[in-house]
Amino acid sequence: MSEKTASEKLKEELFYEPKSAWDRLDEQEIAAADRYCEGYRRFVDDSKTEREAVLTAIELAEAKGFRPFDRTQPLKAGDKVYYKNRGKALLMAVIGTRPITDGVSIAAAHIDSPRLDLKPNPLYEDHDLCYFDTHYYGGIKKYQWPTLPLALHGVIVRRDGTTVKVCVGEDEGDPVFCVTDLLPHLATAQMKKTMAEGIKGEDLNILIGSRPFRDDKGSELVKLNIMKLLHDKYGIVESDFLSAELEAVPAFGARDVGFDRSLIGAYGHDDRVCAYPAVTAILETEHPAYTAVTILADKEEIGSEGNTGMQSAFLKYFIADIAAAFGAEGRHVLSRSVCLSADVNVALDPMFMDVIEVRNCAKLNGGVVLTKYTGAKGKSDTNDASAELMGRIRSLMEDGDVVWQIGELGRVDAGGGGTVAKYIADLDVDTVDLGVPVLSMHAPFEVVAKLDVYMAHKAFAALLQRQ
Ligand code: MN
Ligand code: MN
Repeated sequence: MSEKTASEKLKEELFYEPKSAWDRLDEQEIAAADRYCEGYRRFVDDSKTEREAVLTAIELAEAKGFRPFDRTQPLKAGDKVYYKNRGKALLMAVIGTRPITDGVSIAAAHIDSPRLDLKPNPLYEDHDLCYFDTHYYGGIKKYQWPTLPLALHGVIVRRDGTTVKVCVGEDEGDPVFCVTDLLPHLATAQMKKTMAEGIKGEDLNILIGSRPFRDDKGSELVKLNIMKLLHDKYGIVESDFLSAELEAVPAFGARDVGFDRSLIGAYGHDDRVCAYPAVTAILETEHPAYTAVTILADKEEIGSEGNTGMQSAFLKYFIADIAAAFGAEGRHVLSRSVCLSADVNVALDPMFMDVIEVRNCAKLNGGVVLTKYTGAKGKSDTNDASAELMGRIRSLMEDGDVVWQIGELGRVDAGGGGTVAKYIADLDVDTVDLGVPVLSMHAPFEVVAKLDVYMAHKAFAALLQRQ
């Protein structure tokens, strides 16, 4: 090898040249990442909705000794507790050895994903075909949702107060559902519309049947037959839809992508690809110095509203209850806490370079992406993390051998978005976004790189196990 020139040596010393995870990890660690992602694929397949993610996470947590949090019971270092918020959000904690007033470490991901929700009164028949009418949830490109096999997940609360769970379309023998689209032969007018207008929100109706109830005469016999099938299976009548949460999601499971299997394609990487690492990181956390907390939040995709979203007080109350167990005030704990708001960010896509500024965009296989701010326009609507916090997290990543990169949400004024970071920062917690870069974000089939998923686990473990 030829001797480096003076300028090469000086560049090496002074320039910032981010390296791909492929160049930084040895074979052993790459194999560990592949193994880790097997568990991740199972998690996403078992957790297509926020309710299912909560149940899957609790199952994993209980196997590791976590117990339901009881604020009337004393807590001691090493205790592992979880708090389920209305079946749709989850808090997990491992009590640390340091005084609780030193603050806690928080990894906060969300477990809701864009989808088609059934309307409160969804069932109707039109020209002898039966449909569920939907109201889309979260930021979707509507044209992506027709002609996909869809599964239906959720709960129905019957008039008598009992709840029935629904999951149709996931098992090999199950039927699936779909939104139809127009044949190209007759789409001359449709194809002239903008992509935003080609398929409208009210066009997202899910085809659910065509076989009539056998009778000599009568109207709405296809709907009647569907309602009879649903009554036989779930014991419901049509008005029970009024108290239901039914979510249509892509019916396919997670798959390796690429001949080299370096990528994973799945519905709902955003944000299960951060939720799973946030969970696995706390599961392997034993006797941390600072109390470790993992949050799985609902409602992020619609603005973190409602009592299961991060604008709710449930995190504040949970921390207050833990603080009270040690005779402390919740706010004194929060003020000294550190949070990684664990959410995805855009990955550089060579197909769409016009929205990317390459020096500040995350790349697949570049490791986890640390995002100082999200928001839109002149940094509006964002938690803009301080230089001091960025410095602390940098050190934490480097000391934990985490491959990480910096990333913004696209070019200035190209658009924008947000995460739960600003709501947690509102509680006086030092908060910054860190997560996995994603291609095709919010599409029914999103793509991530396995090495980045594994690095997310290592990043959250580095935070939750900090000394
Ligand atoms: Mn997200
Ligand atoms: Mn999102």
